[in-house]
Amino acid sequence: MDKITHPNTPVLDNFWMPFTANRQFKAAPRLLAAADGMYYTDVDGKKVLDGTAGLWCVNAGHGRKKIAQAVERQLSTMDFAPTFQMGHPIAFDFAAKLAAHAPGGAEAGLDRVFFTGSGSESVDTALKIAIAYQRAIGQGTRTRIIGREKGYHGVGFGGISVGGLVNNRRVFPQIPADHMRHTLDVERNAFSKGLPAHGIELAEDLERLVALHGAETIAAVIVEPMSGSAGVVLPPKGYLERLRAIADKYGILLIFDEVITGFGRLGTPFATEYFGVVPDLVTTAKGITNGTIPMGAVFASRKVYDGLMTGPENQIELFHGYTYSGHPVACAAGLATMEIYEEEGLLTRAAELAEDWQNALHSLKGLPHVVDIRNLGLVGAVELALRDGAPGTRAYDVFVDCFQKGLLIRVTGDIIALSPPLIIERAEIETIVSMLGDALKRVA
Ligand code: PMP
Repeated sequence: MDKITHPNTPVLDNFWMPFTANRQFKAAPRLLAAADGMYYTDVDGKKVLDGTAGLWCVNAGHGRKKIAQAVERQLSTMDFAPTFQMGHPIAFDFAAKLAAHAPGGAEAGLDRVFFTGSGSESVDTALKIAIAYQRAIGQGTRTRIIGREKGYHGVGFGGISVGGLVNNRRVFPQIPADHMRHTLDVERNAFSKGLPAHGIELAEDLERLVALHGAETIAAVIVEPMSGSAGVVLPPKGYLERLRAIADKYGILLIFDEVITGFGRLGTPFATEYFGVVPDLVTTAKGITNGTIPMGAVFASRKVYDGLMTGPENQIELFHGYTYSGHPVACAAGLATMEIYEEEGLLTRAAELAEDWQNALHSLKGLPHVVDIRNLGLVGAVELALRDGAPGTRAYDVFVDCFQKGLLIRVTGDIIALSPPLIIERAEIETIVSMLGDALKRVA
């Protein structure tokens, strides 16, 4: 492909890049210009295989015409309309479509949908719903939230308060929150395939925190059923069931943050079905529009929704919402996305590929500095040993090397995370793994 020319000389000074070492990046930028199917094309015309579905979001692959057409149609019909004291049919249609695929299926009753603009907004929304619900049922002292060490729940103040990644919290204030110990036990679980065997006892940490603070102060516990940003940390067998049981015992709501696991990543529509554990609230974003238009949604159980619908009918039940909640263009993108997922069976396709994915990934065992490999559905992680006491430097070098050779991976600390589009073919799985293997050897 020819070099893709930018209309202006790119000026790198002004865009303050998120989660990026800005000065390092601007000294040697990596710039993407086009995307189609499984591939990006960079500004020099180099094809880059997308090993991360963008940022865990482009589940149906890039350049889906159906979504583009739906967006164009909606933009030219009605570009924006408020959803405060007003409505438009497409937002109700999209909520109904999502409800038809709601986490846990029809019997779970998680079919009341609150729209947001991102994963972070979904998290803040879910936390506020949990606290408001407790208050509405006469449990107004329950304002504390329990999260988990290394949990990632976006970057809103609510999300960082309950999140447990040190760098994201250190310099910012907090809401009342505490953290359970995390479920990663690399040494005992190293190179286990799928769910690790060890660590269910860590769920008992919730009991410890309930005893410490008193159940009457705790509104909810929030976890990623499988945490992504911390470096693909899988829950040990039985761990989530145990969390559910403890939460039920004390009247604590359980929130699953499915921003990454939602929309087919593990081979079921949501991780809720994968683990067979039904929470009270589920946060989503990313795959909801195939990454095309920013959007998120919170699925609430009927119990939670009905609990908040008991006051006078002429009063607002929840003082919360965003200008872009149910944005018509995002809903159009979302509806087209869900149709693609349905037509192509993408919400369950990861299950068909999971074994090949697992085998391919674990073939990297034994390569230099690889200390663990983890996988679930179409998610993978390769953890590298620390280099000279400098966290993340080795994995970063692998990331740069892969990009130069035409593969996009994601690194978080010393962990390489992979989450390709769910349209991936078996041959492309082999390509990703062999390109990564070559990079690991070169960097060593
Ligand atoms: N929760 C989880 C589990 C996530 O992985 C992310 C993003 N990676 C978020 C929340 C935040 O989503 P956003 O970046 O859209 O705000």
